[in-house]
Amino acid sequence: MTMDWTRVEQLFGSENLRFLAQKRVGVVGCGSGGSFVALSLAMSGVGHFTLIDSDVLEPGNVVRHACDMRYIGQNKAAAVADLIKQRNPKAEIDVREGRIEAHMDALDDLDILVVGVDGENVKYIINEAVLKRGVTAVYAGVYERGEGGDVVIIRPYNGPCYACWAEELREGARTPMPGETELDYGMIGESGTLEAEPGLWIHVTKVASIQTDLILNELLRGTDLHNDMPGNTIVIANRELEILDGIINQPHTAVWVDIPRDPDCLVCGDKLRLNDESRQSMSLDDLDTSIVFEEDESTQ
Ligand SMILES: [Zn+2]
Repeated sequence: MTMDWTRVEQLFGSENLRFLAQKRVGVVGCGSGGSFVALSLAMSGVGHFTLIDSDVLEPGNVVRHACDMRYIGQNKAAAVADLIKQRNPKAEIDVREGRIEAHMDALDDLDILVVGVDGENVKYIINEAVLKRGVTAVYAGVYERGEGGDVVIIRPYNGPCYACWAEELREGARTPMPGETELDYGMIGESGTLEAEPGLWIHVTKVASIQTDLILNELLRGTDLHNDMPGNTIVIANRELEILDGIINQPHTAVWVDIPRDPDCLVCGDKLRLNDESRQSMSLDDLDTSIVFEEDESTQ
């Protein structure tokens, strides 16, 4: 039996559905959020996936994962691939068992990347890899005890890279907001992630559902279904939450913000970009020297 797409087709139109069916989405980290996003995109018509994860599903995962007890002991990427096949047998899925560092080639032909990994270090590795390849990446995080979360779309050299974005949110730099309000940066901890914090499946999936919707919108860019969003970051309150400085957001509301690119960012900043051509013929030592030289100049 093949999947009946009538309901989605009535919403998207057959041409847009065919367009989505040709798209390839990468999911690095097929945990609670990543599994939900992958499955939901498959149910929305995306036809090609690259799923990357090094972990096996354990009993403790099942209360917050798209896969149930039948998948215990299986690699999470392989388990999610099986779930997708149950919904759409025609989906084409490249399963990569292992850490992203061992599968960088999997990022080469993606239309978009879903980042659902734990840990900041690996996010910085992914950030550099997707910038280099010109691939848009969508990161999500759930706050402690599921009280809220955020989703950010990182478009290469169009807005912040993940390093600029994280620096802005974590270092307490002030970004003027519409209406002169400011983000309450203190609520965003060091380990904001879809995996590590306690919270229920419903809190994870609310954030992951918004992440999925934004990914679909990004994939549909160029079609009549695409809508421009009010910013690159949405902060979601599951419970009463101070998102903007001094303003309490009511439960089940959200705020859009637009985090700017940092021109001095060491990953995507102007100095490194200007050097792109000469970098190819320079050693790392040369590159270091040139950065120091330019910084010295700018402070004179
Ligand atoms: Zn940057």
